[in-house]
Amino acid sequence: MEETQTPHIAMISSPGMGHLIPLVEFAKRLLLHHDFTVTLILPSLGPPPKAQLELLQSLPITITHIFLSPVSFDDLPAHGVKQEIKIFLSVTRSLSSIRDALNSLVSTTRLVGLVVDLFGTDAFDVAKEFDISSYLFFPTMAVAVSLFFYLPSLDEAVSCEYRDMPEPVSLPGCVDSPVHGRDFPEPLQDRKNDAYKLFVHHSKRCSLAAGIVLNSFVELEAECIQALQDASEPPVYPIGPLVQIGSSSGVGGSECLRWLDAQPRGSVLFVSFGSGGTLPYAQLNELALGLEMSGQKFLWVVRSPDPDDGSVSASFFSAQSHEDPFNFLPKGFLERTKGRGLVVPSWAPQIEILSHGSTGGFITHCGWNSILESVVNGVPLIAWPLYAEQKLNAVSLTEVLKVALRPERNEYGLVGRMEIAKLVKALMEGEEGTRIRDQMNRFKEAAVKAISKDGSSTKSLSELVLQWKNH
Ligand code: UDP
Repeated sequence: MEETQTPHIAMISSPGMGHLIPLVEFAKRLLLHHDFTVTLILPSLGPPPKAQLELLQSLPITITHIFLSPVSFDDLPAHGVKQEIKIFLSVTRSLSSIRDALNSLVSTTRLVGLVVDLFGTDAFDVAKEFDISSYLFFPTMAVAVSLFFYLPSLDEAVSCEYRDMPEPVSLPGCVDSPVHGRDFPEPLQDRKNDAYKLFVHHSKRCSLAAGIVLNSFVELEAECIQALQDASEPPVYPIGPLVQIGSSSGVGGSECLRWLDAQPRGSVLFVSFGSGGTLPYAQLNELALGLEMSGQKFLWVVRSPDPDDGSVSASFFSAQSHEDPFNFLPKGFLERTKGRGLVVPSWAPQIEILSHGSTGGFITHCGWNSILESVVNGVPLIAWPLYAEQKLNAVSLTEVLKVALRPERNEYGLVGRMEIAKLVKALMEGEEGTRIRDQMNRFKEAAVKAISKDGSSTKSLSELVLQWKNH
């Protein structure tokens, strides 16, 4: 291809809205500020979720996408396979279609780099066949990246399950806030499980990347990012916060926004557990009654419990409820909270809700995108982690960044209604709430600066782009 042709980047996004959304924003930034074109390569498990299709359809024509043929999991047991295994396999089993996609891009564009998220390092080998450098994109906190890099050493040094380690681990750059094994990401909690083995496999392959791209910014996670940057190769580029600009989805959107328009400033608590989080039935009940008891206004995105009532990520691949979630709410709840609360099924336009002036707090499952979206809008949090690396995030939010309250679980492992009501009131009306709101606002200002003309993330992205342009 001609040197003068627009540089092109291919990005592989493993299944899950939380992986696709920040990559899309990365693509938009490359397009708007650096005149790149981008192709999103999407491994799939079946028909794409509605929210994913709407997002892709909203993109400019210079950000194209290719859906790869769905992979089959017919050989896996029907129950009990961790979702991370399916995510890893969705890429590994798509390698030959990824090869076809890259082949076609190499012959039609000036392809200068491949970006994969942390589930896709096996695609590095395919990129190498075309002499294309691969870059690893982390849609997570830097502290989770630090743990991922450190995993091969931990795997060798520790023989027990991590949750049984008597002492917390001081991750590089996070020495002031050592992490307990019990707070490690959920797939690392069973070292005999294939999910764990896959994480170790992929963590060992990080060093094969030509660069590591972080969706975070120096002013938010200074020490941890510095430690990652100091650790020789590959170079680390913190380019965040990459959060959705504009509309996140039309699904049920206008009703939520109209309702918010009619509420007083900062008065509404938003309650949502990401694109896939689900609560067991008993927990759903406690949450409803806790919100009711709090007396505060709320906007709750509710999903039906997992049919087996055990999984906390039952909607991860579909972003939709299995059944009508309203059937699982306590009797009379909707009538009793009418006017004070709005309950929407499955999906809501989160970015618009968090940036709306009426929103004053957020109960979140601590997915990294949700956290960053709260940071850029200065919304204080109640940290309610469910799966993946969310517990680790929750610890950082409450103990390091000090932007969240964290509920305690009772002897049945549930967050009880009284605890919920107490924390919601503390967040929305209490002194603690004011303190963490102020802290969030400081990070909000830092985020604006990081992506401003001479900001740290802008510079970091320019360095990365320069590498690509010199390809
Ligand atoms: N999201 C949304 N509406 C919803 C649920 C989620 O727009 O009802 C978006 C949310 O704004 C975020 C992403 O989906 O950008 C979820 O990513 P996150 O990392 O927070 O959690 P995950 O879904 O990956 O667990």
